[in-house]
Amino acid sequence: MIARRTLLKWSLLGATASQFALPALPANAAGDKRTRWIFLGTKGGPRVTAGRSNPANVLLVDNEPYVVDCGPGVSKRLAEAKIPLPSIRYVFVTHLHSDHVIEYGNMIYGAWSAGLDHEVDAFGPVGLDALTRSFWEQNRADIEIRIPDESKPDPRKLLVVKEIEASGPVMSNPRVKVSAFRTPHPPILEKNYAYRFETPNGVIVYACDTAYNPELAKFAAGADLLIISCPATIPRSPTKCGSRAPASIMQVPSSSHATSWNLSCSLSS
Ligand SMILES: [Zn+2]
Repeated sequence: MIARRTLLKWSLLGATASQFALPALPANAAGDKRTRWIFLGTKGGPRVTAGRSNPANVLLVDNEPYVVDCGPGVSKRLAEAKIPLPSIRYVFVTHLHSDHVIEYGNMIYGAWSAGLDHEVDAFGPVGLDALTRSFWEQNRADIEIRIPDESKPDPRKLLVVKEIEASGPVMSNPRVKVSAFRTPHPPILEKNYAYRFETPNGVIVYACDTAYNPELAKFAAGADLLIISCPATIPRSPTKCGSRAPASIMQVPSSSHATSWNLSCSLSS
């Protein structure tokens, strides 16, 4: 298990590190089937720049990839992490801000073009199904040429979208159980979800973009690793909890994002 202080440190680092692959959680009884969380992109917002990539992550359990958010660059980052695109089995989208989902379709297309031959389950808020259909329609000409020409399966049948309409269990298999928790990210109030991954090696909660929400602490209770994005402009050394937040923090548009200051205080209390 990971010390809570380390957990807090990692949650803060996640906001600013370029690429930050966490050390592996402890190996399970088999000794060779690790659970790993890899940050593929930590730069917030839709602008694409050199250096840090936009929001995307992958959880590896027994080498099975669970992609979490699909910002610009996710396919390339997966390749750089040596995770074959056709090995993707699950996709989780937290919300439909473009920096979290704009490469979702291209990533699945890339997996298909490289040999994807199994079902991929994609979970996300209401709207993900329409987005998926729109992607297939945009690429219909290409897909319908390649299916007979390259003897490929129909990718539209391989990708199964499961929209989430409320907090609660999302999926489970013999190794991983996933549940979702609705958390506000103004102006997105309902279609934004944190995910809790219960793995053989520990529990990981990914909250991503969220306003400060004390209820999230209950959802994350007992987690070994909690990941929340914070605006990088906020000082990472909070003042004494219980005092007023520094003026520099109060000026940040924190209504849509939690700050490292209020997270630090809530986690340490
Ligand atoms: Zn967002």
